[in-house]
Amino acid sequence: MALVKQLRAENSALRVQLARAGLLPSGKSLPSLAELEAGIVWPQGREDRFWERPPRKAPLSLPGPPGKEGPPATAAEPLTIIHIAAEMAPIAKVGGLADVVTGLSKATAARGHSVEVVLPYYAFLEGSPDVRDARSVGVFNVPKGNGLARCEAFTATVEGCRVLLLRPVDQGSLFQGQSVYGGAYNETEAYLHFSRSALEAVRVLDRRPDVLHCHEWQTGAVPMLFWEAYSANLPRTRLVLTIHNFDSVGECRQDEFLHTGMAGGAFASVDRALDERTVGHNPERLCLLKGGIVYANAVTTVSPNYAREAVRDGAAGFLKSTLAQPHIAAKFTGIINGIDTESWDPAQDATLPAPFSGASPRGKALCKRFLQAGLGMSVAPDKPLVAVVSRLVPQKGIHLMEAALHHIAQHGGQFVLLGSGHADGALRRAAEEQYRDNADVQCLFMYSEPLSHLIYAAADMFLVPSLFEPCGLTQLIALRYGAIPIVRATGGLADTVKDVASGDVGPVSVGGNGYVFQGMDGGAVQAAVGRAMADYRERPGEWQGLVLRVLDDGDAWSWDGPTEEYLDIYSKVLA
Ligand code: ADP
Repeated sequence: MALVKQLRAENSALRVQLARAGLLPSGKSLPSLAELEAGIVWPQGREDRFWERPPRKAPLSLPGPPGKEGPPATAAEPLTIIHIAAEMAPIAKVGGLADVVTGLSKATAARGHSVEVVLPYYAFLEGSPDVRDARSVGVFNVPKGNGLARCEAFTATVEGCRVLLLRPVDQGSLFQGQSVYGGAYNETEAYLHFSRSALEAVRVLDRRPDVLHCHEWQTGAVPMLFWEAYSANLPRTRLVLTIHNFDSVGECRQDEFLHTGMAGGAFASVDRALDERTVGHNPERLCLLKGGIVYANAVTTVSPNYAREAVRDGAAGFLKSTLAQPHIAAKFTGIINGIDTESWDPAQDATLPAPFSGASPRGKALCKRFLQAGLGMSVAPDKPLVAVVSRLVPQKGIHLMEAALHHIAQHGGQFVLLGSGHADGALRRAAEEQYRDNADVQCLFMYSEPLSHLIYAAADMFLVPSLFEPCGLTQLIALRYGAIPIVRATGGLADTVKDVASGDVGPVSVGGNGYVFQGMDGGAVQAAVGRAMADYRERPGEWQGLVLRVLDDGDAWSWDGPTEEYLDIYSKVLA
């Protein structure tokens, strides 16, 4: 393994030298530029939603990038792992949580473990083509309030993963509506009931898990309920909680907790789930994330740096004091997220007009041209194209995106933004008024999976200026697609992107892999964007070398490493 890594590093370094000298070999068995180009169906004028139709007359694929050292070894002692979560990609995705649940489940199952994901049966999942073989496996009673409520469980398959979908029966609008969150029902009630239903499903369906792996505040009640009411019958089972973002902690009135069928008073002390900010108030409240942290056997968050920021700085808010307690600090750790390198693979991605890889990078330029043409930008191979794909919420640094936009527009670059959300007032105004007639500024305020793929593939640089970022997946996807990240040094962004000028050795084999800035003001992001644009224009050989290096190293962001770390945690809690 170490030897393979070393050889890959040497190979990569050699290719960078060849690229600098303009001597990169062409890879004989791979399609030529002309062959790649011939099959593309170019957008016609400003073709409406061109990203939703096939970009080629017929699909074309390249061999994947070198690197995978064979399938992962099968576990000698397979574990039974059950994830309990509010999101799962692609069927119920709002953000990174969904990607993590699916990616980690697939990777652990590939190692021979038995893995199942428990999810609410959201009304919009009914008839979804991605939910396969849904089958009712029974209706059972779940304690709720001072009585019982009914719940129906369905087994199904999503992306090859086993899932258990739990549907409340005769309970008004719970989990009705067309989106994961924001329905016309009380979410605290819904997820408290879901948490209890998940534990009842495990009991009634006799699942006997080694590990119950919970995610976010929505399932924070699971460890609390487990140790109060289920552990005697499941003596081997251990609880792991992963916190994807400390921003939402799940506030809950004590009487509301009764939606789990258990009185909240049992947890209302500072060493359990009491929200200490409410001490002395009437009524005092519970914090579901805190309860989950206190009761779980291990607690993880999604990058080592975010874990440090939670313990040392303000990332965890008032939960800092909980995390500081020695017995909790000892069970708290950060594990970087992976990405699904099969669905995010520029060499096999059917949404792209031309595939590409480190071994055959030419298709990337065609993707850029395709996007430029489709969006009505100037079709200029030499203009640096800077992209953003993001939810537009304050966390993501929207004012820094706007500052970057001004700099890029003033300095003859191109800017493409794909953003969903509503917290984008000034940015949207700039796009729709100041830059309305500037074809090289394209802001699309929407959510689109296929367009996101095309943007990652087309971009020269990818901007992630988050004010805080637990892990961040977009910079990893960008690296996988050869778009050089420009990031603010926070959370997981600082763990995964090392500045080319810092001399730090990033996760790539040689040298840095992007551009990093510290401040929260427009000047800071503009300086970083300016450096990247200058390197792009003034040192094209080195730039191409950098792109090849990150493309070659695309496997570095797979779930392989993180999965081993999660399995380590599972074995520690089970020891
Ligand atoms: P968060 O979970 O905070 O949104 P992450 O970086 O962890 O941020 O994950 C974001 C995921 O959502 C990535 O897969 C990204 O491609 C996707 N995404 C974000 N905004 C959009 C959008 N407007 N259209 C399509 N995909 C998006």
